[in-house]
Amino acid sequence: MVINVIGGGLAGSEACYYLAKKGYNVRLFDIKPDKFTPAHCNVNYGELVCSNSLKSSDVYGNACGLLKQELLDLGSFVLRVALLTKVPAGNALAVDREEFARKITEGLKSFPNVEFICKDVTEINFDEPTIIATGPLTTEGLSDFIRKNFSDGLYFYDAEAPIIAGDSIDFSEAFICDRYGEVGSGDYVNCPIDKEGYTAFYEALITAGRATKHAFENEDVKVFEGCMPVEVMAERGFDTLRFGPLKPAGLTDPRTGRWPYACMQLRKENESGTMYNIVGFQTNLLWGEQKRVFSMFPALKNAEFLRYGVMHRNTYIYAPAVLDKDFSVKAHPLCYFAGQITGVEGYVESIGSGLIAAISLDRKLKNKPAVDFTDTTVIGALAAYCSRENADFQPMNANYGILRPVADTRDKKLKKKLMGERSLAKIKEISEIINE
Ligand SMILES: Cc1cc2nc3c(=O)[nH]c(=O)nc-3n(C[C@H](O)[C@H](O)[C@H](O)COP(=O)(O)OP(=O)(O)OC[C@H]3O[C@@H](n4cnc5c(N)ncnc54)[C@H](O)[C@@H]3O)c2cc1C
Repeated sequence: MVINVIGGGLAGSEACYYLAKKGYNVRLFDIKPDKFTPAHCNVNYGELVCSNSLKSSDVYGNACGLLKQELLDLGSFVLRVALLTKVPAGNALAVDREEFARKITEGLKSFPNVEFICKDVTEINFDEPTIIATGPLTTEGLSDFIRKNFSDGLYFYDAEAPIIAGDSIDFSEAFICDRYGEVGSGDYVNCPIDKEGYTAFYEALITAGRATKHAFENEDVKVFEGCMPVEVMAERGFDTLRFGPLKPAGLTDPRTGRWPYACMQLRKENESGTMYNIVGFQTNLLWGEQKRVFSMFPALKNAEFLRYGVMHRNTYIYAPAVLDKDFSVKAHPLCYFAGQITGVEGYVESIGSGLIAAISLDRKLKNKPAVDFTDTTVIGALAAYCSRENADFQPMNANYGILRPVADTRDKKLKKKLMGERSLAKIKEISEIINE
């Protein structure tokens, strides 16, 4: 049995190692070392394209820290290499990127059953077991093939608004109602601001620090038309936002009986209301600046940002229509997607999806029952998020908002601890099943 892994980035390297260790013959395809995407430059596999940080290591206080522990407990090869090559970075896990990629490549090359093929893959044979892990900068030929085969689409750009933790919104400074309606469904939370507050917000917004873009990200200007960053829109004039995403018309504040001067709307991201996105607030501001400026709305003064807004080139499929919750393609069960192309966002999240895809494919090929990571684990919750119906699907990173809530507690520290313990207990159970 030969398995194809397309892409030797973070997800592909993780999947390749797992499957090779299980004894399969694996063909690992990459355009490297002959060619590189615009963000890659290292001939080795497992290259970190930007920051050298895999974020927080706090297992019981940070969702990405918990995700890392889950993956380590499941035997992640790539994270083991990260620990071996770590450099001091406080509470974060940062690595020596050269050593990291070198050791990943060395680990993969230690298998006689892995064949390394340098090729720009442009089509997939759905009858062969395959994991597609070509990342956010998947080459053009394969992107075309994916677009043609999955009519529900392929996105090339992320324009994401920030997501706020529901329990960090100050509801005494907000109200729930539909535009021109009476009492709303509760899906929208309206956050008013008065003239003085709006003026200060406006000044802060247009002067706030912006993230720099890579040269290749300026190519496709057309994609921006429907999703202009809020700070760029604001530059058109003082009142532009009051006729756009901060339009107050029809939103009667029950405390004053009037429409506010300007009004931000938050929309539920999930049914339980643990996450809300800021409607129409796609942004390219630096993350710290988003917190500083958007928290000027009274209802957001203590807001916890679960995910910051980003705008960058990112190829990803419309996973809810295409994928099952083990990252396999609904219409082609031997084919899996893994990594950022599935709609997970971030290094560790990509590694995790590579591991889930590999574990699931192995079990499928052996006719063993699938394991359900459930939404009590961070990796399972990410997989569930990607495969759940969602007309407004956008990439997602590890955060507590996607996990199944625990018993109602206002103590956030305790809540995170309980979620962590529940997750690692589930992972232990799953590890025993997959290693039996
Ligand atoms: C510019 C940029 C900066 C980022 N910075 C960060 C960051 O700082 N922190 C963070 O957590 N996340 C970051 N991300 C997001 C994401 O976590 C990383 O892109 C991550 O590397 C994704 O892992 P992956 O395995 O899905 O893809 P990749 O690691 O990109 O691996 C994909 C591999 O597939 C190969 N490939 C592509 N097309 C083909 C093809 N047709 N045939 C064969 N091989 C192919 C590529 O050469 C590459 O080796 C960034 C993304 C981008 C684009």
